[in-house]
Amino acid sequence: MDNDTVKKLLEDKRLKDKRDVFGTSLKNYRIALSRVLEETDADALKDKVRHIKEFSINNLNDLKKEMIRKMEKSGIRVHEASSSKEAREIVREIIGNESIVVKSKSNVMREIRLVEYLRSEGIEVVETDCGDFLVELCEEEDIHPVLPAAHIRLNEIVEKIRQKTGAKVEESAESILTFVRSYLRERITKARVGITGANVLTAGGAIVILENEGNISLVSRLPEKHVVVATIDKIVPTLEDAMTICKVQSIWGTGLHMPSYINVISSPSATADIGGVKLVGAQGPKEVHLVLVDNGRSKMINSEFREALYCINCGACLAACPVYGVLLNNYGGDAYHGGIGIVKTYCFEGLKEAFDRGVYLCTTCGACREMCPLRINIPEMVRKIREECVRNKFELTSNVEMIENTRKYGNPFGKVENLDALELDKMYCC
Ligand code: SF4
Repeated sequence: MDNDTVKKLLEDKRLKDKRDVFGTSLKNYRIALSRVLEETDADALKDKVRHIKEFSINNLNDLKKEMIRKMEKSGIRVHEASSSKEAREIVREIIGNESIVVKSKSNVMREIRLVEYLRSEGIEVVETDCGDFLVELCEEEDIHPVLPAAHIRLNEIVEKIRQKTGAKVEESAESILTFVRSYLRERITKARVGITGANVLTAGGAIVILENEGNISLVSRLPEKHVVVATIDKIVPTLEDAMTICKVQSIWGTGLHMPSYINVISSPSATADIGGVKLVGAQGPKEVHLVLVDNGRSKMINSEFREALYCINCGACLAACPVYGVLLNNYGGDAYHGGIGIVKTYCFEGLKEAFDRGVYLCTTCGACREMCPLRINIPEMVRKIREECVRNKFELTSNVEMIENTRKYGNPFGKVENLDALELDKMYCC
């Protein structure tokens, strides 16, 4: 991202408005988080979760083998996908001839661009997360992994609902929610395929998904097929480890001690109540599929970017990042925002994309690391990407200019004839 693009973004009135509206949600989140942290031994919890992730990534291959073995034994069909393309095609095949699918919020689905792909195949994809649904309805962009629609004003939502569905809704959060609930409920009951992500997978064969809204419970129970799209770095040894991650995700993600619901899925729905014969699909899905996505993660294990695999996508680092605070989702990747988004963009999409999405904007202040429950050293990884940028000539013109001036004139501003008359129109940071 060059200086002109940043300048345009800074002058963008719409972005300023989004920031103002989003600021209220961010403030509420910070208050909730600090209250929960007062009652939590945060350092002990951070140590514990970091240890779980370190151990899991160190032993990922063994844990993965064990998980696949257990899942297949209990009737979950596991499909391994090495790339985004492969993952999309596997999901497409599982969907078969169905024309509508319902889905929940998922970063990895965004990473592999699943929704765009399924729509291009003529499949109706319904977002059932309230925030994601509103973002789509209002033709907006999602700006935060946990609070995607927190930047949209109520009057805009009401107007879009009226325009697109003809429904009359009052300008209140309660009235909008009543509409969203009944609109989505109708579609969820109609769909025969539900797609969700997962927060954690265990070597013992469990898929763990946390939520507050209740849509994931419906999407994973009512349709006949449940497709889970999750990445390999979600695997941990035990259900106890998974619960620790759920707790950390809830505290740092939403400022709540625990989420409203934790779904633990370890087989398709089944009963043996009729003649003692085991039948699948009693009230829940007949088929559960896990699409296990690698997409470059195996390579990251032994690289300088390994720590990015510890990330649980809680979004807490965004609340601390001064650059994200100004540019919101314009800083970082499409699926993952902020500094950690830059690192993941580099790992999953490449150097040019990381450069375009703002690798040089990071101030390396370290606020994200302080905030992160995994203590992930994001600034250090950003520095490594910059080194790679320099080696490959991805540099900002202002940086090149600064270096040339320093070499030539001994200062970053260029030739200075009269020091007293010097007017500085640039500011450089070491
Ligand atoms: S880097 Fe840390 S704080 Fe940021 S989303 Fe990942 S786990 Fe959460």
